[in-house]
Amino acid sequence: MGKVSIGLRGWRFDESAVFTDDGEIKPIDAMEYETRQRVVRLRQVIDSPCHACWLLHGDENLDACNEAAAVYGEPLSEVVVCETHEPDFLYWYREEGGNEHRGEPELQDAFHEWFLDGGRAPDGYGGVEHVDTDPTVVPHVSGTTSAAEAEREANAVDLDSLDID
Ligand SMILES: [Zn+2]
Repeated sequence: MGKVSIGLRGWRFDESAVFTDDGEIKPIDAMEYETRQRVVRLRQVIDSPCHACWLLHGDENLDACNEAAAVYGEPLSEVVVCETHEPDFLYWYREEGGNEHRGEPELQDAFHEWFLDGGRAPDGYGGVEHVDTDPTVVPHVSGTTSAAEAEREANAVDLDSLDID
């Protein structure tokens, strides 16, 4: 069974968890809870600024921040990085102990701290695994932004699929 990224690099999904046998993306309410939560969150972070850029430029200079190219970590405590800063994240994760936070919500804060302390990948650090992604394939859910709304939305989908007369 293959793994695929959707929209952004980083998060990987079992093909069978997000696509039907015909290769169409499944309706959001036909996905398992964990997949659905990640897809809903993905839809929200896909247009968000890179965290590293944001740490450098702040809310007042959002225009200076690059768009997300990849997302790592767990939904709601994920790390979003652009093309430029993805190597920094990967370097931190692989070489600077970031992987100790694998699967933990602390991953986001730990990376932010390291980056704010001046942590960077050495020049030319690569290791980015390029996966073809297609932003248009991400199923659209409404444009909520807060963590609480994301949870509520993920939880609410079941209700929408019920047949209530
Ligand atoms: Zn960036």
